[in-house]
Amino acid sequence: MGAPSPLAYIGLGSNLESPIEQVREALTELARLPLSRLVAASSLYASRPVGPQDQPDFINAVAALETRLSPLALLDQLQALEQQHRRRRQRHWGPRTLDLDLLLYANDHINSPRLRVPHPQMTARAFVLLPLAEIAPSLDLLQQPLSIWLERVENQGLERLPNA
Ligand code: AMP
Repeated sequence: MGAPSPLAYIGLGSNLESPIEQVREALTELARLPLSRLVAASSLYASRPVGPQDQPDFINAVAALETRLSPLALLDQLQALEQQHRRRRQRHWGPRTLDLDLLLYANDHINSPRLRVPHPQMTARAFVLLPLAEIAPSLDLLQQPLSIWLERVENQGLERLPNA
């Protein structure tokens, strides 16, 4: 037995015409990444779009991945998945979209041109914090319990979808 693999948390988001399917598919694809094992996936959450309401809800989820990929190699994989989804959607259903954010990578702090970890916006986003709390309730984020960060954000119209 070697050292345990680093644990990474990934935020998924979509507001495509079929965003639920898109996020589900992306979870399956994350589970197939090399040198990686999907260890948890949150429920899906819906939030109403800001601005015009005649567009699909946003769907979000958070996944936990044990991985031997380096942070940048993992980012490469996430961006390749985003590109695959974009290309496919452009052909069949119009533009985009799948966003994959590397939220946390072990306890690393990374500040490079391509990659900032912890993800700089995650502490302000209910659609990240709530699903994250579902799969990692006792996690500390920037030396504070996740529950403290959650108390600081509004619910932002987030709705947990029933598990299919
Ligand atoms: P966006 O499409 O708005 O999510 O932004 C993608 C850009 O953010 C890419 O150029 C990434 O290199 C950069 N980036 C910086 N930090 C992160 C992170 N933690 N996760 C994903 N992308 C990141």
